[in-house]
Amino acid sequence: MAAHERQPQEYYDAIKARFAEERDLRLAFRPEGTAQFVSDLDGDLARIADDPYAEEITERNPIDDEVEVLIIGGGFSALLTSARLREFGVESIRIVERGADVGGTWYWNRYPGVACDVPAYDYLPLLDELDYVPTHRYAGGQEIWDHCRAIARKYDLYDLAVFQTTVTSTVWDEASGRWHIGTDRGDRMRAKFVICANGTLSKPKLSRIAGMETFAGHAFHTSRWDFDYTGTNLEKLGDKVVGIIGTGATAVQAIPHLGANAKELVVFQRTPSTIDFKEDWPTDPNWARRLQPGWQTKRRERVLRAIEPSDETKARWAAMSAEEKLRDQEQANIDRLMRIHRRIEETVHDPATAESLKPWYMIMCKRPCFHNEYLPTFNRPNVRLIDTHGKGVTEIRPEGPVFEDRVYPLDLLIYATGFEVQKTGIWNRIVGRDGLDLDGKYADGIRTVFGIHTAGFPNLFIMGGYQASFQFNLTDLLSVQGDHIAACIDHVRRSGRDVIDATDDAEQWWVDEVISNRGKTRFSEDCTPGYYNFEGEFQRRQDGNYNGGFRTYNAHLTNARGEFDRLFSLA
Ligand code: NDP
Repeated sequence: MAAHERQPQEYYDAIKARFAEERDLRLAFRPEGTAQFVSDLDGDLARIADDPYAEEITERNPIDDEVEVLIIGGGFSALLTSARLREFGVESIRIVERGADVGGTWYWNRYPGVACDVPAYDYLPLLDELDYVPTHRYAGGQEIWDHCRAIARKYDLYDLAVFQTTVTSTVWDEASGRWHIGTDRGDRMRAKFVICANGTLSKPKLSRIAGMETFAGHAFHTSRWDFDYTGTNLEKLGDKVVGIIGTGATAVQAIPHLGANAKELVVFQRTPSTIDFKEDWPTDPNWARRLQPGWQTKRRERVLRAIEPSDETKARWAAMSAEEKLRDQEQANIDRLMRIHRRIEETVHDPATAESLKPWYMIMCKRPCFHNEYLPTFNRPNVRLIDTHGKGVTEIRPEGPVFEDRVYPLDLLIYATGFEVQKTGIWNRIVGRDGLDLDGKYADGIRTVFGIHTAGFPNLFIMGGYQASFQFNLTDLLSVQGDHIAACIDHVRRSGRDVIDATDDAEQWWVDEVISNRGKTRFSEDCTPGYYNFEGEFQRRQDGNYNGGFRTYNAHLTNARGEFDRLFSLA
């Protein structure tokens, strides 16, 4: 809606008042913030994080050797950085991965309907290098996972890779200038450089729900889908009552399939997602044929180039105060949200269900979702939405979840409750110089340079962690981080040095940059709680992402390569 078609300000103020009401309701239900979730699962729940896909654990002897670069995690972070390292002539690269293959997110997430809603021509990395054009505008999980494996084959990453292995300790040895890496398979590996590439959202988390462990039916997390139970195409669910807790991006993709196949589906909703149209289509073969070599690199470069606004936009913005600009953005956001509300009203037949599915927060407070079958699923007679009005499921009995004193008996309960967010060192204790433990160092707030280096942890690089820029297309971020890490390693090798570490001054500079770019508006504070705003823990200012913009972030990385000696100590 153009600015001149806007409603009077009172209209927006009334909607913002509803936003605040809904946020406060949720904050009051869960004052414990991020502590409402648990990801270190033990007892009966420990199996939630087990791998249901690998047939069995392949026996092997413990490894006792040294590589030049060891990468913890085998997802896109590892694949992208390895590709660049190979270009610099680095031969000794080992991926250590908990799953039984490379792929990361796309290894673990195989739930029905899994797909990426960033256009595949941008999301799938290294398309030029692999001479591959995705089959659809939006790629499904299987195609993305196949692409991951093709990258690993092209860059010979399987040769040294170790799968079904979880790194449990990563300890710096000053005397030898090497990292010592211990695993759950008894390995004692050494590496000159370590890259923490464990992903932004990898470790499944559960909401702490009373009685969860007493549930007598079958249960699993969406990232550990039990196809033995459901059948490959969910054909075994025809006589099952299935419940799903959560309505985030994962649930939105899985629910249409569950609704179409289960005898009954009960969806437990705490906060609805924003569901916009998904405009997908098969790749036009004529378009694909005309693509010139280097086409994807050019697309990525465009993301990094500042796009000049039109003269009209520039003139309009120049005439506005900062306050007016903010109001303009808010109004545009609310107009878009109201279009999403109208789509719900037009699609969902039952007015009460339609009302429950309406999100009341600014778009981008939570991960926006795009789907064309999600809303119509609630018109199916076998699908029920249990709107917990922001409270969520707080009790589970042996028969099933309870809400407002009513028990919902289930055969299968699916947790779509998400993942631990952007933590470095999951399942893994990282110890740097002088016995410094990374979690201990971060106890009063994360401290890094670019979210990649942290002083006292030489030759260690972090990908996808906090204090790096946020990018909706994650592979854009991983790509520039991978370029930077490969350039750092190349610099150390070519300059005849052995060790690169961030200086304390550089670290303080970056922490200040992160803090100064956060909290410029109240957007995050005004949002309904979610993992984007630490479930309402607004005081954690330096623990988030760098909000200075992706282009500026990339410019910082590029500039750093021209001033290694200012930011880093090299020995
Ligand atoms: P999320 O963390 O986004 O969602 C978790 C869901 O569980 C929320 O709806 C949350 O409600 C709900 N929840 C938590 N506890 C309870 C409870 N006790 N009772 C009821 N509901 C509860 O996890 P997802 O796995 O959905 O998504 C994680 C991320 O993965 C996405 O944000 C996205 O970045 C990525 N992703 C991307 C996809 C894509 O490209 N399309 C697809 C899938 C995932 P509340 O909102 O109230 O907290």
